[in-house]
Amino acid sequence: MAIKIATEKTIREAAALIKEGGLVVFPTETVYGLGANALDGQAVARIFEAKGRPQFNPLIIHVCDEAAAAELVVMNEQARLVSSRFWPGPLTMILPRRDDCPVSDLCSAGLPTLAVRVPAHPVACALLKAAGMPVAAPSANKSGTLSATTPVDVSGTLGDAVDMILAAGSCPVGLESTVLDLSGGVPLVLRPGAVTAAEISAVLGEEVSYDRGDHEKPKSPGQLLRHYAPSIPLRLNAIDLEPGEALLAFGSDRFMGIKGGGSAKDLPESARENLSESGDLNEAAANLFAMLHALDQSDHKAIAVMNIPDQGLGIAINDRLSRAAD
Ligand code: AMP
Ligand code: MG
Repeated sequence: MAIKIATEKTIREAAALIKEGGLVVFPTETVYGLGANALDGQAVARIFEAKGRPQFNPLIIHVCDEAAAAELVVMNEQARLVSSRFWPGPLTMILPRRDDCPVSDLCSAGLPTLAVRVPAHPVACALLKAAGMPVAAPSANKSGTLSATTPVDVSGTLGDAVDMILAAGSCPVGLESTVLDLSGGVPLVLRPGAVTAAEISAVLGEEVSYDRGDHEKPKSPGQLLRHYAPSIPLRLNAIDLEPGEALLAFGSDRFMGIKGGGSAKDLPESARENLSESGDLNEAAANLFAMLHALDQSDHKAIAVMNIPDQGLGIAINDRLSRAAD
């Protein structure tokens, strides 16, 4: 891993790395971000691997301007008011994904909403312009450790897990962005940050409150969110199929049988997906939410999921599957 001082040249190199599916740490005005091409599910899966995150929390998608955001999410009236006042800046909005949103489902952890932000830091802006694509970026630190606001902190925590660190001193705000949920009827601050609920209330002309999240007893702001759950039952660690079940395979499903006769390979294509035929956990993470969505059809009795090893990214995959199975 290389720490490089941000210059026009190193920013172009960083943009090229992101286009190729690499991981680049870059400065924003809030904290350093761990960025990957948001359109590439496998690149996004690497973010979770590098952070050692045992859960797939949705990530903030960084774009260079409001027009780029409008290609991903539905910018409602409130969103336009907030963006014209606070973007670029330390404010993230949760909005409904557009039907044609090209961002990987892993970025939104299968939810119909997406978190978007236009950062104000000149290096972040230049990187996003040079990359020419939305960049998914959580804070650049290991899961469970403090967000990093200097390049030295980043290299101490993420070490060799990233391809490049773009260094530009310490982050001026030093606090994560305010997360504002505008996807439902009532505007709600899910995470306090530099932009306050009072400032947002003034712009919207209506009271905006902090979500205390007492309904879920969250330990951290990342746990305030709802989780994607399929509409049909999920059966984990399946070693064979019940008649009428769809199959979410991992590795070879050649010997998967159906009770009472038949085998998985006789299932119609619409009832059979494979997270990774070669047993690659990174590929499986990238496919997880899109394949769950694809199999979540009422004509299936349930989705039978084959065993996924509980190691590396498999821990986050299993975490999400067991929540979805509840
Ligand atoms: P980080 O990426 O570490 O800055 O954290 C991102 C924050 O945004 C987390 O606290 C999430 O709870 C929140 N977030 C991102 N996407 C969504 C979403 N679609 N719905 C609700 N919260 C979200
Ligand atoms: Mg974080």
